Amino acid sequence: MLRVRFAPSPTGFLHIGGARTYIFNWLFARQKQGTMVLRIDDTDVERNTEASRQSIFEGLRWLELPWDELYSQSERSALHREAAGAILAKGLAYRDFTPLGGQAEEGEKDRSGAPWLCNPGQREISREESDRRAAAGEPFVVRFRVPRETVAEVRFGDAVYGGQGRSTGDIEDFALARSDGAPTYHLASCADDADLRISHIIRGQDHLTNTFKHVLIFEALGVKPPEFAHLPLLLAPDGAKLSKRRHGQVVSVTAYREAGFLPHAFINFLSLLGWSPKDNREILTRQELIELFSLDNINRSNAVVSFQEGVADWPDPKAMHLNGQHLRALAIDDLLPYVEAELRAADLWTGPDPAWFRATVDLIRSRYTTLKDFSRRGVAYFSDRFEMEPTALERLNALGARQLVAELGERLAATEEFTEQSVEAQLRALAAERGVKAGVIINAARAALTGQSVGPSAFAVFRAVGRERAIARLQAAGC
Ligand code: GLU
Repeated sequence: MLRVRFAPSPTGFLHIGGARTYIFNWLFARQKQGTMVLRIDDTDVERNTEASRQSIFEGLRWLELPWDELYSQSERSALHREAAGAILAKGLAYRDFTPLGGQAEEGEKDRSGAPWLCNPGQREISREESDRRAAAGEPFVVRFRVPRETVAEVRFGDAVYGGQGRSTGDIEDFALARSDGAPTYHLASCADDADLRISHIIRGQDHLTNTFKHVLIFEALGVKPPEFAHLPLLLAPDGAKLSKRRHGQVVSVTAYREAGFLPHAFINFLSLLGWSPKDNREILTRQELIELFSLDNINRSNAVVSFQEGVADWPDPKAMHLNGQHLRALAIDDLLPYVEAELRAADLWTGPDPAWFRATVDLIRSRYTTLKDFSRRGVAYFSDRFEMEPTALERLNALGARQLVAELGERLAATEEFTEQSVEAQLRALAAERGVKAGVIINAARAALTGQSVGPSAFAVFRAVGRERAIARLQAAGC
């Protein structure tokens, strides 16, 4: 049974890199009828925040890719202690009583510049002495006893980066539990992955080197390590790591939602960062992504998120293009709830007639790119409070145009019939009588009805705006 997990630490907002990791795990799970586990890695009490936890849930819920199981590491500390105890009991870990402060940190070098491997004298403490000192309350750190007798290689296969190996001579005796008993990330993560029977670990490439330690822990716990797939990093166009400070909204999932992205389009956009289908198609539905996704097609090279530096240019044109494509391709009934939510948020929702709403959204979406367009560019369809764009004003101010639209308003008011055909016939008759091109009245009417100079066919606009409102707007334009 395939089981994957996404294991964010709630120490910041949900980053697009995290969302991409979640998406890849989810697609893989759905394709293989597996299980998607969401595990909040909240063991770092000092750095965790509730706001971050909420940002993770909010961002992931917005993706509409539901997880199957949910865990918080903080509720599993008994399991972590048990795992540390089991490794200690097997002699594969030891207590390091070096006074705090004298403890070396991971990755430190010793005086000769060689990697620090362990604190002197600690590995040799006998079990009896170790137990006695622990029972007497002396503080200690539990460290993994990396084999030193013979230099061996720790090996694992990575679905993206291929076979990996590192000599035990280059791996320090890393901590499993701190002096307050709290598990380290390495221990908690592996103990949970083992307990939750995770079969594939798909995560960021920044964890590739941690994996050697993880393989040692899995083996010490007596379980077969899962399969691994590490994902290339997401970089800015200048090769820098994406950061909120430097790159602003581009890295924040919520910012895409607020910019009016559809989750389907956002998923499509992120899935193409570091992965591509064999046929290089770009517009992919969620179902197509489930079918096409494969670990084999993940690239090793870092994925560049194309965007222009500077907030004004965000979201980048490619992401916008994808969103526009999805906005038009989505079955209309699937799009309506998003548009309704957007109109509600903009205080433009009046509970319109469902058939009218459906037809109107379908009409105007053909030129739109984001959901925001419905509440901004489309405001005249949903409210009388709309502004006139300068180009629309020009059309309306063309010589005689205001009077012509007002007259058209009078004529429409005098007839009951109000269809695209009847409006067109009346408009053309008026143009012929006044000796002007029909286009002049059409352009001015579109401006009066919507405040805009471009849009769908003017006669379709009449229908969408409706008889009463159309007449009122045409008449008002004449004043
Ligand atoms: N909590 C870790 C992180 O956010 C999880 C890494 C992993 O997937 O093992 O980086």
